[in-house]
Amino acid sequence: KKRIAVMTSGGDSQGMCAAVRAVIRAGIYFGCEMYGCFEGYTGLVEGGEKLRPLEWADVRGWLSEGGTLIGTARCLEFRERAGRLNGAENMVKRGIDALIVCGGDGSLTGADIFRSEWPSLLAELEKTGRITATEHGKYQHLTIVGMVGSIDNDMALTDNTIGAYSSLERICEMVDYIDTTAASHSRAFVVEVMGRHCGWLALMAGICCGADYVFVPEQPPCAKTWRADLQAVCSKHRAAGRRKTTVIVAEGAIDDELNAVTSEEVKQALVELGLDTRVTTLGHVQRGGTAVAFDRMLATMQGVEAVKAALESTPDTPSPMIGIEANQIVRVPLMEAVKQTKAVAKAIDAKDFDAAFKLRDAAFQE
Ligand code: ATP
Repeated sequence: KKRIAVMTSGGDSQGMCAAVRAVIRAGIYFGCEMYGCFEGYTGLVEGGEKLRPLEWADVRGWLSEGGTLIGTARCLEFRERAGRLNGAENMVKRGIDALIVCGGDGSLTGADIFRSEWPSLLAELEKTGRITATEHGKYQHLTIVGMVGSIDNDMALTDNTIGAYSSLERICEMVDYIDTTAASHSRAFVVEVMGRHCGWLALMAGICCGADYVFVPEQPPCAKTWRADLQAVCSKHRAAGRRKTTVIVAEGAIDDELNAVTSEEVKQALVELGLDTRVTTLGHVQRGGTAVAFDRMLATMQGVEAVKAALESTPDTPSPMIGIEANQIVRVPLMEAVKQTKAVAKAIDAKDFDAAFKLRDAAFQE
């Protein structure tokens, strides 16, 4: 029987529990023995109870749970070969040679490095007497499958990541709450949302909440004129009868000279207009709570596909990442997705916005 372990790693997102549940149950359905790897890569490095079998009933009720019940962590040890050696030993001792990782680009990179190093890790483990020659012979290849759990929706080669729509929903609820009091007092609110290099959450929140103005990293405003432009737009809306002002700022927002556009600066521009202005940084509320229906569906369908991909994977094919494209669950090359994601972030950092746009467009068209 094939033994497959599943882990969640990096920042948590709503829907990770649903993903783990789907993987465990699909694995059992397809005749595999399933393991949970607790606390991200720490579970591999430390083994023990942190890498243990999970049964059908162990994930009962997980579909509607928020966060991740098998824990997640940033594991420094796994970045070192010594940590990965422990990880390989713990897997081989349990007869596990397939790993499904639900996380961001860092976690998926770690998984791919682990796979490419696997033969040399096993050779070293055998040489130092930590595994037997028989074990080495039996588990020559490591299968890796990636699933993307991220509230930011920042991965290339997939339209959506698990958690992004739940996070967007949370933001919309909070902006709705803020809007009622803003309108009562005729105030302005600057709402800062997460997303790092990716403005998807901010942009979609702007559309869903009818914001006056949105700042995203992908479309940096002119450093010299954005204040005046913001003021003109908000004044126009006020003149048309709007009793509140809502501006959404992505945490990674920048201007075209690469200065951060901070919530405080945006607030100052609105204060200059004479508006009573407050800043609300939504923070971890955006990662919290249960997954919306879309993320439960995405996590479940992708979890089943991840197990199928693990069972069909061969030593010669690149590790797959499970994505969704035009409403179809798809397999894409994991490292290509990571590469394109990193290229976009790098282009934005280097102020090369044209390149960033082109890379993102190309990623969507593929
Ligand atoms: P998020 O999008 O929330 O940041 P992420 O998966 O990108 O998620 P990281 O902190 O980059 O988050 O990575 C999570 C963990 O994956 C790290 O703590 C480490 O254990 C492992 N990891 C990341 N990059 C590598 C790498 N190059 N080699 C080995 N392990 C890695």
